[in-house]
Amino acid sequence: MRGRCPRCACTRLFNGFLKPVSRCVACGEDWNARSSDDFPPYIVILMLGHVIAPGMISLETMAHPPLWVHLVIWLPLVAFLAAVFIQPAKGGVMALQWWVAHGAHATGATHDPEEASTPSPEPSSSELNGC
Ligand SMILES: [Zn+2]
Repeated sequence: MRGRCPRCACTRLFNGFLKPVSRCVACGEDWNARSSDDFPPYIVILMLGHVIAPGMISLETMAHPPLWVHLVIWLPLVAFLAAVFIQPAKGGVMALQWWVAHGAHATGATHDPEEASTPSPEPSSSELNGC
């Protein structure tokens, strides 16, 4: 959600506004394999709908403004908030997909000392924190 690689948190996850990097330069994770599709916009629409709709209804019931007042207030606000939240939503969905595919052990977070001492193709937490 912070725009960092979910695996190592060392580098940027996005190459553009919503285009993820093809491969993390720090840990080598292939981000072309992850496709969040339409889920991030659904999250943003759901979240903004719960914030904006009550505001619109409250304004209408209390002040009965003309339609242009609603358009001037709510359209720019929705556009701004959607632009603010779409990238964190996409990063969160990509991180969730990665976490579901690899599990918490891939981040180096483990409570089993034997598991932590066994060699793994995944980078250790000390390798990942050294970036
Ligand atoms: Zn990485």
